[in-house]
Amino acid sequence: MKYSTSPVPDVILRNGTVVNADGSRLADVAIVDGRIAEIDRDLPAGTAAEVDARGLIVLPGLVDVHLHFNEPGRTEWEGGATGSRALAAGGGTTFVDMPLNSTPCTLNAAEVNRKRAALEASSVCDFGLWGGLTPGSVSQMGEMAAAGVVGFKAFMCDSGLQEFPRADEQTLLDGMKEAAQLKLPVAVHAEDEQITKALGKAIAGTGAREFLASRPVVAEIEAVERALQLAKETGAKLHLVHMSSGAAVAMAVEARRQGVDVSIETCPHYLYFTERDVERIGVAAKCAPPLRPDNDELWDELLRGNVDIVASDHSPTEPAMKKEGDFRSSWGGIAGVQSTLAVLLDRGHHARQLSMERIAALVCRAPAERFRLRNKGRIEIGCDADLMLVDPDESFTLGAAELYQRHKTSPYIGSTFRGTVRRTIRRGETVFMDGKITATTKGRFVCPIS
Ligand code: ZN
Repeated sequence: MKYSTSPVPDVILRNGTVVNADGSRLADVAIVDGRIAEIDRDLPAGTAAEVDARGLIVLPGLVDVHLHFNEPGRTEWEGGATGSRALAAGGGTTFVDMPLNSTPCTLNAAEVNRKRAALEASSVCDFGLWGGLTPGSVSQMGEMAAAGVVGFKAFMCDSGLQEFPRADEQTLLDGMKEAAQLKLPVAVHAEDEQITKALGKAIAGTGAREFLASRPVVAEIEAVERALQLAKETGAKLHLVHMSSGAAVAMAVEARRQGVDVSIETCPHYLYFTERDVERIGVAAKCAPPLRPDNDELWDELLRGNVDIVASDHSPTEPAMKKEGDFRSSWGGIAGVQSTLAVLLDRGHHARQLSMERIAALVCRAPAERFRLRNKGRIEIGCDADLMLVDPDESFTLGAAELYQRHKTSPYIGSTFRGTVRRTIRRGETVFMDGKITATTKGRFVCPIS
């Protein structure tokens, strides 16, 4: 039996390198009732279970603020049970689910509550929720805020789903004003409607090259510029999701210098793949915005500290909707929820000297702070004991059999990564260890602190 007042730790992690965004040290970590109770050298042994973390990196659990588990209503594409297990296998302990592609979409408080209940029943990770900003949902934003959403997601171009229409200029303006009142961020999918629509019509063909040509960088730049301007006018907090180009990041950084409250997110696939991979891999690598000719500039921006958050934008579907060779009608979305940390360790830490502290900032502290997720993203006394134990040097090759997501489609299959998650702990419970999901309890809903 455990008592919340008990000073006796349930678990002690021994001799790991404890990494936070602001520094690292060799220490033991004691966990009591799902929270971090102590961080120090040579904590006294007692009745606690001991975990040997020697030679391992102890990072805060990864917080993935952009993914689509499609629960409830479209769980044949993914689902909270499979999606959250895949996240946990990649070191994740908390996610924030997008208001689409669940169906009905999360556009009012009733749908927020329905999704919350569905994920409380299915997820092994803790979670928050995004509300949707569409024409017609502005009047629902207040009640969605009261139901605990972290912010509102809008599309500046076609979302690919009829039931989640694009936010036209007026909707975006009204939505940002309302979000500013509610003190919650607006997240935008920034690709320009006119450009993507016109090129979609003008460019014939269903191949990879035609698809890539139909969504050029300029579409992203145009939309980012407008979103930044609207955020400036309304005073809304803006979150730019899945920035695919260094140029768009640079533009947002400049706006930030001028006082716009903007956070910048990119995804592991923009850091790992390029256009050449789209031709090589096929429709599993189709996403919007698409992969770019190169990612050097994006990496430069990230290494300079100009990217705030890396999130997966895990957006799976069922195999029938990914028709090989048909980039026009295949579902756009990369299913990579399990591989975010692997990409940052392999291509960032090992290939580009990205520090572990910066990784902790990008996938732990910054997402938790930006969306005000209480006690998440840091290894500090009193915080939730959300942790991952990582062997930074052990390599693995990702096989389809190792994927916990519902459908084993991922452009990362066959890739070798240096850096392996050995164990994931969510509020003190080991939910993943040595390749196996071990969770016995479910995740909890987390809403932003006021
Ligand atoms: Zn998305």
